[in-house]
Amino acid sequence: MASVEKLQQLPVAWSDVDWKEELKNNITTLDELQKYIPLTATEKKDLAEVVKTHPMNIPRYYLGLIDPSNPQDPIRKLCVPEGDELIVAGDMGETTPDPYGDDRHDKGNGVLHKYSYTALVVGTEYCAMYCRHCFRKRMVGLPNHQTVKNFQNAAKYFTEHNELSNVLISGGDPFMLPTDVVGKMLEALVEIDHLNYVRIGSRAPVVYPMRFFDDQLIEMLHAYNRRKTLYVPTHFNHPAEITDEATEAILRLREAGITINNQAVLLSGVNDNVDTLVALKNTLLKIGVNPYYLYQCMPVTRVRHHFQVPLKRGVDLVDDARRRLDGYGKRFKFIIGHDIGKIEICGRIGDKLIMKQLHARSDHPEESSRMLIRQLTDNGGWLDDLPEVEL
Ligand code: SF4
Repeated sequence: MASVEKLQQLPVAWSDVDWKEELKNNITTLDELQKYIPLTATEKKDLAEVVKTHPMNIPRYYLGLIDPSNPQDPIRKLCVPEGDELIVAGDMGETTPDPYGDDRHDKGNGVLHKYSYTALVVGTEYCAMYCRHCFRKRMVGLPNHQTVKNFQNAAKYFTEHNELSNVLISGGDPFMLPTDVVGKMLEALVEIDHLNYVRIGSRAPVVYPMRFFDDQLIEMLHAYNRRKTLYVPTHFNHPAEITDEATEAILRLREAGITINNQAVLLSGVNDNVDTLVALKNTLLKIGVNPYYLYQCMPVTRVRHHFQVPLKRGVDLVDDARRRLDGYGKRFKFIIGHDIGKIEICGRIGDKLIMKQLHARSDHPEESSRMLIRQLTDNGGWLDDLPEVEL
């Protein structure tokens, strides 16, 4: 089959490519996609509609991870648009473009400040890949008003808010910015005494590890990490993403002294089975990445209907996986990233879901650390879907 051959012919010496030049080879149109993946006439029509709203952007490296013999390949689901993205709400319920309440905590100039101790700055709306399950799907790859315009002014905001213990540079993917631009951001942040650490959120180690083969970037991160502790939250969802190249990228970040925490999302058809979850956590530990969060897929418009797993099933999957993991493997938290704050799903007792709120909005500090119990239903995939329980 021609498409299979094409996938297998992709260049393999990823360590030799220039990361900026290779981005120009990303697959962004259906015509290019069809060179690698056969599409039916219906798929072509549907996908043409989907990409008008949510652009496609797939690095050739990541495309090469697809198993072309498997039509249900999980890597394909993560990067290739599907006709299901046309469905705004389905069996799982209503959806929203902004489930995490970013808009309500927008301080302007790309700064989002939801929890008193943490603030986020949107460094860029660009990512090496536009993941089909992204919760910021409303803005990635699209013109928007939530990307930082003046980083020095953002840093001034952080300096004036001495309740902050840390800042997250997010996006999009900050590592898609030129090294000197990332450096200027870090230079401003490392000078803020009350910040204990700085995080740089990036999926590039997963979808575009070539970015970290740039010695200049690694040397720069190493130097800043000596002045202020840096963390990189990343986002591996499936063990097939942990390739030799991704492992090398992680190793290079670790050699710069950086701690890497993984924030996966539980996704239907991608990682919603016990063997995959166990393999993901174990392989992450093997390469020195801490399994930190497993997010329940948010009710995001054009994501929820085909990616969200009902909580009743999800909690059992996670508990079954935990039973097979060692101490470091089971340190991760199964999380609902709700507008009211972050809620840990602790487990279930019979048909009741037991949760604990970890973080609360700054105007509701009393909600932090409270326990929550809800009635599980067959299809409920979000806190609001589950009836409250009287104790
Ligand atoms: S890399 Fe992250 S921000 Fe970018 S599309 Fe993927 S999930 Fe969204």
